[in-house]
Amino acid sequence: MHLAAVALDLPNVGPFTYAVPAGLEVAVGDGVNVPFRHGERQGFVVDVGDWPAPDYAVKPISSRIGGVRLPTHLLSLCAWASRYYRCALGEVLAAAVPAPVRTGVKPERRVLIRKVPEFVGKLTERQQGVWADLPNLPTPIGEVLTTLGTSRGVIDKLIAAGAAIEEVEQDIQELRLEARDERFPLTDEQQVAVAAVSAALGRHETFLLYGVTGSGKTLVYLDLAEQVIAKGQQVLFLLPEIGLTPQLAARIRNRIPRTAVWHSGFTGGERGETWHRIAAGEVDLIVGTRSALFAPLPNPGLIIVDEEHDPSYKQESSPRYHARDLAIVHGQRLGVPVILGSATPSLETVHNGREKRYTVITLKKRPKGGALPIPVVVDMRQERAEQKRPVDLSRALVDRLRAVKAKSEQAIVLLNRRGWSPVISCKKCGEAVMCGSCAISLTWHRGIDRLKCHYCGHEQGRPSTCPACGHDQLSATGLGTEQLAALVQEQVPGMSVLRVDADTVAQRQGHARLFQAFAAGAADCLVGTQMVAKGLDFPRVTLVGVLSADKGLSVPEFRAAERTWQLIAQVAGRAGRGERPGEVVVQAFDPHALPIRCALEGRPRSFIDAELQLRREYGYPPFAGLVRIVWSGPDLAAVQLLAQAQAQRLAMVLDGALMLGPNPCSLAFLKDQHRWHVLIKAGSRGVAQALLDRLDAAGGLPESKGVSIAIDVDPNTTA
Ligand code: ADP
Ligand code: ZN
Repeated sequence: MHLAAVALDLPNVGPFTYAVPAGLEVAVGDGVNVPFRHGERQGFVVDVGDWPAPDYAVKPISSRIGGVRLPTHLLSLCAWASRYYRCALGEVLAAAVPAPVRTGVKPERRVLIRKVPEFVGKLTERQQGVWADLPNLPTPIGEVLTTLGTSRGVIDKLIAAGAAIEEVEQDIQELRLEARDERFPLTDEQQVAVAAVSAALGRHETFLLYGVTGSGKTLVYLDLAEQVIAKGQQVLFLLPEIGLTPQLAARIRNRIPRTAVWHSGFTGGERGETWHRIAAGEVDLIVGTRSALFAPLPNPGLIIVDEEHDPSYKQESSPRYHARDLAIVHGQRLGVPVILGSATPSLETVHNGREKRYTVITLKKRPKGGALPIPVVVDMRQERAEQKRPVDLSRALVDRLRAVKAKSEQAIVLLNRRGWSPVISCKKCGEAVMCGSCAISLTWHRGIDRLKCHYCGHEQGRPSTCPACGHDQLSATGLGTEQLAALVQEQVPGMSVLRVDADTVAQRQGHARLFQAFAAGAADCLVGTQMVAKGLDFPRVTLVGVLSADKGLSVPEFRAAERTWQLIAQVAGRAGRGERPGEVVVQAFDPHALPIRCALEGRPRSFIDAELQLRREYGYPPFAGLVRIVWSGPDLAAVQLLAQAQAQRLAMVLDGALMLGPNPCSLAFLKDQHRWHVLIKAGSRGVAQALLDRLDAAGGLPESKGVSIAIDVDPNTTA
């Protein structure tokens, strides 16, 4: 019987078998519509053949989704990911292929309505009433009709009279920036790098391009990309999710005109169109975040993973894949080279280089000259003792900010916490105002005078009395970027400040616009969260300040030291990129912390050696394969019960691996869910996979009502 296996987007189930009706041609990779339960669903054909008829009635495939066929290399990558990350193939495919492509349905553009406030013509009384309440900003028609309780007919009359305007929502076009020409002759170091990768084109090899910030990694990528494209192949260029895409895309497009951008901020429609262009071979290079790994390039010849250490390569919801790790798997299976680029590579990657699994190429010099910035570390305990008050900005930093202002240069100040104050607490009982859905204190955002939960998004007004004891005096403690921006403006007369954090870049491609404005000289100082640390080249920046540099070190995560080292080294690398030398002022309560010292003093080896030693001793990656299992649900007792019962099942398959827990997660209550977890430390990733296979053979971890189970292979976080 002619049958097909079809992967549907459903968790925890394998592909389903369907009959291929006579006259319908289907091949592996085709998108198809199939009957499922009482409706239609979409899926992908993962296998076809003439197989013996099963002992149940198979339903036939309804139809093909026009023009949608996944390249087989992509399908096989998804299949690999589904096995490794322990989720259904259909779930991986759903993450890999944009919805309008999968379903064959183009998303409808929404119709928006807004008021013409200056309208003075004649209206009926009813129309007048509706007009008065119309929103001034373009608002989806459905929303307008429900909130105003009116009909489409009335709105149409208002439009006809000129009292309202109808607009069709536009896809927000990719922000296209200009970039200057960068066809510089390559430096000796860059030439060596290009030659090494060039020699590997046509087969697989993984390279670590380990180049200090500003060492010209991008030019190396572009030179190689041109070689690959000249052979008629395509290039996949991944970068972290930080809104740098427009800047980098502009640089790339200068040299490679048929470049397409793939970004999680784009709407389904935009992604759908790009997908079809890529599949048709109309694109030479695709630059994008994590999910661009699944772009349907017909014949990729090179994969680049820039800033390979960045945590945003890991997806924190199912499928919990790591795009850098999958990129290497993809490169192996395609037989093409993979370049991992970073100034602060992850310890896993450094270790793989030392073990000769990857080829390490180093770039030690900045082609435009410019030494790494001079570090100044301020001991904030001493600073506060000397100033006899709890200051946030040290004198060393304020003095230098003033000097920057006087010389018309620019500065960047980093503080990894947004809002005005992270804690609002009662002056009498000391209780902090907490989120009702999370065990987290609410952050005060002063500009809008609201309290926000940074974990679940809950927002509320500021209470006038303590919710715990009713006392009427509450105080705000701690510093966030909103307050920091105000402090800088207050202490450095005349300094204009631009703030970059999740609040100011809420709108799509907001970062790119803010960075562009700063580069154009719109402000003297950029204040922001870790977003300001990454990847940007501002020649006029001569000073970088970091507040609470050691705060991240107290987080109970095995990657805490690595992240701090990376953050400080990256942000310091923003200073002194032009002709003028740079300085970096770091404020910390523990000014001797090794990750901070090594990041500032350009001693990566000392940090890496010490940290690898600790990882080996305590059994963490790269010397272990980790699997984390999280149980969560609204009922604490049910969560705890299932975690304990299933941990016993896990204990039976450990075979020498170590299991920590079960116990409550450090974020024990989030989004109305209680959370328990275990962390399994196996000797290697392979050993961890074998353990999970034994678990599957023993029946896996069956779902239970009211409790969800998440298996996280190679977790990024253990909080
Ligand atoms: P990285 O990505 O390693 O931080 P970039 O590729 O952004 O570094 O390069 C840093 C700066 O150096 C850019 O302004 C770039 O135009 C410039 N640059 C790179 N290579 C050369 C070269 N060979 N000659 C002159 N300038 C170069
Ligand atoms: Zn919350």
